[in-house]
Amino acid sequence: MPADLVQRLRAPRPTVSVEFFPPKTPEATSLMLAEAAQLRPLGIDLASITYGAGGSTRAATLDAGRELVALGYGVIGHLTCVGHSRAELEALVDQYAAAGFSGILALRGDPPRGATGFTPHPEGLSHASELVALVRARLGSRLAVGVAGFPEGHPDSPSPEEDLRWFAHKVRAGADFVTTQLFFDNADYLRGVAAARAAGVDAPIIPGILPVRTLRQVRNFCALSKARLPRELESRLEACGEDEAAQLAVGLDWAEAQIAGLLAAGAPGVHLYIVNRSDTARELLGRLRARGALPA
Ligand SMILES: Cc1cc2nc3c(=O)[nH]c(=O)nc-3n(C[C@H](O)[C@H](O)[C@H](O)COP(=O)(O)OP(=O)(O)OC[C@H]3O[C@@H](n4cnc5c(N)ncnc54)[C@H](O)[C@@H]3O)c2cc1C
Repeated sequence: MPADLVQRLRAPRPTVSVEFFPPKTPEATSLMLAEAAQLRPLGIDLASITYGAGGSTRAATLDAGRELVALGYGVIGHLTCVGHSRAELEALVDQYAAAGFSGILALRGDPPRGATGFTPHPEGLSHASELVALVRARLGSRLAVGVAGFPEGHPDSPSPEEDLRWFAHKVRAGADFVTTQLFFDNADYLRGVAAARAAGVDAPIIPGILPVRTLRQVRNFCALSKARLPRELESRLEACGEDEAAQLAVGLDWAEAQIAGLLAAGAPGVHLYIVNRSDTARELLGRLRARGALPA
């Protein structure tokens, strides 16, 4: 499977992946799975499932991931270094493989809410590159390994040069692919890819796109991720007033134009931050296929 997945990510046909987060209640889990089942026949290649920051959703990542595997998705399980010893991470990696996941997105993770700066577990790892190496040492190439990319630079990085240096180091530790943080200006992605290629990184770099639902939602996402909300998009959303259907229409138009531009510029696919809902992905895939940006 991982060899297939790596081949798939490098194939000329663009890869489409969607991101789920593990729900906190049985009702929300049923809803998420119903949405995932609706999306499954639409030519989505991969589903990724996030890993909870504060420990709340950690077992839930494995549980929800297993359900997505059962629906027939190639599943990328996210894993972070936060609060884990090396031995715990090794055990989790084994569990991901036993659950039938196709890949692992190896992340450092963010400090728990309220904490300043990332403090590694005393017997744990300090950077995503070390987790990439741990997964490789544990599983060889049984699972594909991905890492995070930041088109606008990682918020903690002292300079773009440092950011690029550690990014290239992390990929060289054994990553097969990169999925990016959400961004709204394609120039940031294209600049980042050019810099990565110049630094010798040749792994596929899949752009992460948030189809915006509402102004409130996108402001929250930008506050959390430190992504820049372009003034033009913000004004268009503000002009909708309280009309959430109109805000969603603006978000879909922006995402459609962004993805079509990225694919035309050679992006290997798209990763959609769908926030456990199928409607935006369904609409965007339909539009992108209708305009020939994605194959039918
Ligand atoms: C696609 C995607 C999915 C995500 N999914 C999740 C999730 O499921 N759960 C979650 O909690 N978080 C998730 N995150 C958030 C992520 O954990 C944070 O952005 C975190 O701050 C950085 O993680 P990283 O893996 O990029 O870390 P790293 O690659 O370790 O980088 C973190 C910082 O350290 C620097 N650095 C790296 N190596 C070194 C070194 N050796 N020496 C000095 N500096 C170094 C980097 O330049 C960067 O500034 C996701 C992010 C993305 C983009």
